[in-house]
Amino acid sequence: MEERKGRRILMFPVPFPGHFNPMIQLAGIFHHIGFSVTILHTSYNAPDPSRHPHFTFRTIPHNNEGESEEEDPLSKSQTSTMDLVSLIRVLKQKYAQPFRKSLAEEVGGGETVCCLVSDAIWGRRAEDAAKEVGVRRVVLRTGGAASFCAFAAFPLLRDKGYFSIQQNTRSDDPVIELPPLKVKDLPVIETNDPEELYRIINDMVEGTKSSSGVIWNTFEDLERPQLMELSSNYQAPFFPIGPFHKHCDDLPSKTKNKEDYEITYWLDKQDPKSVIYASFGSLADIEEKEFLEIAWGLRNSEQPFLWVVRMGSVRGTEWLEALPTGFMEGIGHKGKIVKWVNQLEVLAHPAVGAFWTHCGWNSTLESICEGVPMICTPCFTDQRVNARYIVDVWRVGMVLERSKMDKREIEKVVRRVMMIEKEDGIRERCLDFKEKANICLSKDGSSSKYLDNLISHVLSFDSYALAS
Ligand code: UDP
Repeated sequence: MEERKGRRILMFPVPFPGHFNPMIQLAGIFHHIGFSVTILHTSYNAPDPSRHPHFTFRTIPHNNEGESEEEDPLSKSQTSTMDLVSLIRVLKQKYAQPFRKSLAEEVGGGETVCCLVSDAIWGRRAEDAAKEVGVRRVVLRTGGAASFCAFAAFPLLRDKGYFSIQQNTRSDDPVIELPPLKVKDLPVIETNDPEELYRIINDMVEGTKSSSGVIWNTFEDLERPQLMELSSNYQAPFFPIGPFHKHCDDLPSKTKNKEDYEITYWLDKQDPKSVIYASFGSLADIEEKEFLEIAWGLRNSEQPFLWVVRMGSVRGTEWLEALPTGFMEGIGHKGKIVKWVNQLEVLAHPAVGAFWTHCGWNSTLESICEGVPMICTPCFTDQRVNARYIVDVWRVGMVLERSKMDKREIEKVVRRVMMIEKEDGIRERCLDFKEKANICLSKDGSSSKYLDNLISHVLSFDSYALAS
């Protein structure tokens, strides 16, 4: 491996697993090539640096001048009751100035900094901060290209009144401008502050446009038309180099804990492709009533299941206390409920036959890469667009709408997805995409080529920093 000494890349992730994980995977790719990496991370949801010994970590404190601990909007008690839009607004606000300061200190530190890679969500303020210190900024978009097309169309969709009909009976109407989306698929989120949501999306889109390049965790064979459509409107070059987590075998990964071993042990004892794996990501929460429908639906399907229920993700409860007495005993070894799994390992396990998912982009891509068919129950934002593409475009999954999620429907869909070998070719299409993902990462594959282009692009920035 060629050592690129003095070539440091600074990375600024958004502190949610669905954003942080791909940023760390990208850091692993850069490190593997020979770059040094510094992760500038927020004090909110700070990572454990000992899990990633290859990188330098620097904590950015947030700006809480003049606020007592209780008033601090990023304290646990305040964020636990905030909706996602408010949380993102506060994060952007509270870290803007401290990020600027940290970036200036890093850049002034003596070692040549190639560029900043910032999450698209940080928007134009990250661009301003990078300009101030003469460093080029490349954006990492952690979601797919199809959903970004919908985000980029927000002003148009708004003008045409699509958002105001989303809640009513016309939610099944097609969005003529964005086929195959229906009105109900538009990537919004329940919030007390829809105006703020538009601002965040607009800032993300404009900040991506004004960047020096866009890195996508996707691959051409999956989203070529969407990438082409977007890039025709952007000056910044595109680098669809995904799937990140498949780039090399020695990317730094999480060490296994006792629970991980227990899960693998349990999976090892199941028949091939017999297990339904259910998880709704790192952010979505559900009502107690929905939780119970899922529990009974999974149990009644009589299919072995592995279900992730995050602590605090069932509203009003801590973990599983809403389950009726004796529920788990009734399942015996047939089902397992856990707080978290190493999802990459679970999806790659031969016992897993299907993934019931909320369709977050990472989960979608991880499932596609392992050839695992999906049951799609999107909750908010890009998950809705991803679900539409999974079901109607890539045709590697089936839908189970959240509003129709009762135990009978769940039982029916789970049984159906486990029977699909005898059905309509879903599993063949899944395996086809799995192969395509592998091909794009081969020596002459599209993602490998884009990665070469990205490296040349990033190395060409040195002269910019000196000249400016
Ligand atoms: N994940 C995991 N274990 C779990 C649940 C999720 O490792 O028990 C990981 C998953 O592999 C994915 C990320 O957390 O990389 C979730 O990202 P995604 O975009 O799917 O959804 P989000 O959490 O952002 O809604």
